[in-house]
Amino acid sequence: AVKRNGKQNVRRYNPADDADTEYRQELGRELAGALERGEISLVFQPLYDLQTGGLVKAEVLMRWHHPVFGWVSPAAFIPVAEQAGLINTLGLWALQQSCQYAQQWPEVVLCVNVSLLQLFQSNFAQQISEFLQEYDVPAGRLELELTETTLMQDNSNTIMGLITLRKTGLSLTIDDFGIGYSNLARLRTFPVEGLKMDQSFTRHLAGSELDQRYAKEMIYAVVQISDIAGLQVTAEGIETLEQLQAVRALGCHTGQGYFLARPCGPEQFVMLLNDAAPPTWATA
Ligand code: C2E
Ligand code: MG
Ligand code: MG
Ligand code: MG
Repeated sequence: AVKRNGKQNVRRYNPADDADTEYRQELGRELAGALERGEISLVFQPLYDLQTGGLVKAEVLMRWHHPVFGWVSPAAFIPVAEQAGLINTLGLWALQQSCQYAQQWPEVVLCVNVSLLQLFQSNFAQQISEFLQEYDVPAGRLELELTETTLMQDNSNTIMGLITLRKTGLSLTIDDFGIGYSNLARLRTFPVEGLKMDQSFTRHLAGSELDQRYAKEMIYAVVQISDIAGLQVTAEGIETLEQLQAVRALGCHTGQGYFLARPCGPEQFVMLLNDAAPPTWATA
């Protein structure tokens, strides 16, 4: 899907370029039966308390293994699922599975990504409540992640949906915060418990001197405002010790990234949970 403009310019790959292609339509057709064929699974990526080093949460991430296409990234198939009207089925499956895992893992909160289309289903909150009851899991053990750009798309309906979810006792967080066109002042208008700084901020912490300064000031400002508003700040995409040290020093509360732990299957996640020793970065 690399397109050429004129002679020299090779446009970088952009998933939106595939919007109308045959491939995208085929993905949609294949995705329709993927769940029944057992091709969809979940992986879990730990989130650590940056003060104590404790494994406190895990993000639930969807995986699709197609017999011919191989592994398809959720960055590619979630937009297809949304367009093909499949996101509600997939999303509810992920939520039900997450409740089942939450029952087995009482020591962690599970963070589940939710698409705006799910939020607009009138019985969404009701369905989550039923899953929680089915597995006897308190609502506070689930946290729903909604992207900032998603939350900006619609206003009154979105806020109403969030309020309904909050009433059931679920935690809500804003994902990929800092790249949309919301501002710090608007944070107060969302009934959320926390936010996850977009990975680009963490990436800039390993960039040029100017990038680093900019990222540090931005993260610092977000943490200060969040502390006043009582919001938890998570740093995502931590790939190096230097980035980890920086986000800890800046006061981020929780951290997630390949340096800390990669997303893994349930068996491996249980081993991480049973690991008695705190990670070395927390004790050094
Ligand atoms: P996200 O919610 O922002 O999830 C974080 C993504 O960053 C994940 O990619 C994760 O594997 C990746 N990541 C974690 N640590 C690092 C790191 O240190 N470096 C780098 N470069 N990446 C890191 P993944 O699993 O490919 O998911 C991509 C996106 O797909 C997610 O972004 C989320 O928006 C969406 N998604 C995944 N699962 C679901 C789901 O069940 N439902 C919905 N609606 N969306 C989902
Ligand atoms: Mg997320
Ligand atoms: Mg994110
Ligand atoms: Mg993302």
